[in-house]
Amino acid sequence: MRFMKKINKGYIPLSIPDITTKELHNAVACLKSGWLSTGKFNFELEERIRKYTGSKEAICVDSCTAGLYLSLLVSGITAGDEVITTPFTFAATANVIVHCGAKPVFCDIDPDTYNIDSRKIVKKLTKRTKAIIPVHFAGHPCDLERIYDIAERHGLTVIEDAAHALGSAIKGRRIGSYNGITCFSFYATKNITTGEGGCITLNDSDIARRIRVLRYHGIDRDAWKRYGKGGNWRYEIIEAGYKNNLSDLQASIGVAQIKRITQLQARREEIARIYNMGLCGYPGIVLPKAGSGITHSWHLYAVRIKNKEFGMGRDEFIAAMDKEDIGTSVHYIPLHLHAFYRKKYGYKKDDFPIAEAISAEIVSLPMFTRISNANLKRVIKTIRSIR
Ligand SMILES: *Cc1c(COP(=O)(O)O)cnc(C)c1O
Repeated sequence: MRFMKKINKGYIPLSIPDITTKELHNAVACLKSGWLSTGKFNFELEERIRKYTGSKEAICVDSCTAGLYLSLLVSGITAGDEVITTPFTFAATANVIVHCGAKPVFCDIDPDTYNIDSRKIVKKLTKRTKAIIPVHFAGHPCDLERIYDIAERHGLTVIEDAAHALGSAIKGRRIGSYNGITCFSFYATKNITTGEGGCITLNDSDIARRIRVLRYHGIDRDAWKRYGKGGNWRYEIIEAGYKNNLSDLQASIGVAQIKRITQLQARREEIARIYNMGLCGYPGIVLPKAGSGITHSWHLYAVRIKNKEFGMGRDEFIAAMDKEDIGTSVHYIPLHLHAFYRKKYGYKKDDFPIAEAISAEIVSLPMFTRISNANLKRVIKTIRSIR
């Protein structure tokens, strides 16, 4: 693609969206169609996400964050409730819990997968616990078997933050098909993108109907049905809803992306293999593990730098890579160490020692489908010679 050519020159960024003429073509078709808001491209994208994940319902929204918030609302999460989640995640996962007036109760992570440690969840349960939000870190699926079992036994809702996990699966069953509510992100760096956007999948059609209403002002009919030929001009507001629908201009790009998901996923797997082969056995670098029976979406390729054995610490590593024109990033600084969560809930250092120890060592390497194999080799060679 001529317009993407300069990507593999000079600086290697952490991530770049994979845009082809197919995305351009769909966006132009949408612009020419006279309908830019939620319409046929949204329905096509929802249908394709539904089929791909194996869920009964798919509802596009303008962000994964909005999806998580609406999921909490329809699950009845309200002031005084508690929601158990991981501290090893992006701001959105816990912020939406706060928006509902509920308390985010963090639970430490598994040292192998960096996901919420399902063996530690039960100890966090109180009478106020209403839901669990597992996050599939980097695209490695959480231990959903145990998490859904705990939820069932204690009457809790599971809301999966699957921002990283489109394409992930456990024993062939895709993330998004389980019986809770799952939220995907189409943010610019995610495995498929619409610039900004997201999608909620679930199997309960009644809850899905309520999410569709809340997504669009609490109105019981979508605009395109009202304004189309033969459409009904009547509508009723049944709740004070929100404005979280996805535009067709964005959805048109998403349709082109999801049509290419198999190829995009295969390339991410190939990149992970190249990194694994190039870096395995190198002293002081801990590679990501993929548990048996799982499909990893490889949204991130996050390694850990062991100061002593590697010869430098993580922060030095990032600075040295930057000097060599290679972009990296840290996913994540644990949420409980951020000012707001310390002040509001009294969380402090040493509360979640595994998340803290891993956070101090972790660094994400460039991971995007458009990276050339030559540049991948450059990243590996640089890491092996940087100290
Ligand atoms: C990107 C991300 C989100 C938020 O997604 P948006 O679509 O930007 O709202 C939520 N959780 C995690 C773990 C993410 O990486």
